Amino acid sequence: MPGEPNAGGHEDPGGEAVPLNWACTNCGYRVEGELPEKCPDCGANREEFEEVPIPGF
Ligand SMILES: [Zn+2]
Repeated sequence: MPGEPNAGGHEDPGGEAVPLNWACTNCGYRVEGELPEKCPDCGANREEFEEVPIPGF
């Protein structure tokens, strides 16, 4: 899904928010919360990131 404007959080009324990490599929770099424009580690753009659940939740 290209360019979703909803970059904030997931709002799920009545549900519990599941914290998410972003993981760079190129180098494995993990980001908490907001998705950065580019991977600070390898410079891959945000399409290279995928949402992953934070371990422990
Ligand atoms: Zn990366």
